[in-house]
Amino acid sequence: MSKKEIKRVLIKISGASIKAKDNNIFNLDYIKNLAKQIAMLSKKYQIGIVIGGGNIWRGNMTTGNIFKKANADYMGMLSTIINAIAFKDILVNYGCHVNLYSALVINNVTKPIVIEQINRDLSKKNIAIFAAGTGHPYFTTDTGCVIRAIDMNADVILMGKDSVDGVFSDDPQINKKAKFYPELKFIDVLKMNLKVMDLSALTLCEQHNIDIYVFNILQSNSLLKIINKKCKFTHIHK
Ligand code: UDP
Repeated sequence: MSKKEIKRVLIKISGASIKAKDNNIFNLDYIKNLAKQIAMLSKKYQIGIVIGGGNIWRGNMTTGNIFKKANADYMGMLSTIINAIAFKDILVNYGCHVNLYSALVINNVTKPIVIEQINRDLSKKNIAIFAAGTGHPYFTTDTGCVIRAIDMNADVILMGKDSVDGVFSDDPQINKKAKFYPELKFIDVLKMNLKVMDLSALTLCEQHNIDIYVFNILQSNSLLKIINKKCKFTHIHK
């Protein structure tokens, strides 16, 4: 899909994208469909997955001073672990071999982030799910996603969005004249302050030369389409 040969892929799935319309935390049909696509892709690619937690809790959901910011963020990271456990079981139902690594370890269900082990497991075509972002409050799963992409030597990040088809000059749902960018350099994203991911995450991607494809994960067969460049997307590169 890129000019580079693609072997290792990191897929970012936002929490909001897996939430059901009736407010149930999981849209199970949708998650099963994503898992089915990932099972197909795992025959050809080595796959890592980072799941957000926004369908359950985000650190900025509180108003007032009810929770300490750090604790609100730990609640968010725990939400990503709940999602990761659910996603693991669904992938296993599709015949995948899956390891669940987490920056916050729950001994009975997650493995710690040991880079050599992760890379050995990926080489055996085992899917890696990464939970709990960076493991530190004050960050988002976008930063966690880039760190894990570096850990696993990913060639590309497939950054699934739940409401847009790629990167625009402004929010296209509010500003109908917002300009769509099919291709951008990291430097342009930074200069124009475009909303792709937080700046530290973007800078890390540039330093490690990891291309990002931003696309709408909610469209049908989104993962199969983006890997074959058969949908609208923004390609961000050096
Ligand atoms: N979070 C955190 N540190 C991290 C990653 C996540 O503190 O490294 C917390 C933060 O509160 C965040 C929440 O976990 O709001 C859920 O993650 P995120 O909002 O990135 O999920 P997504 O938007 O992808 O569903």
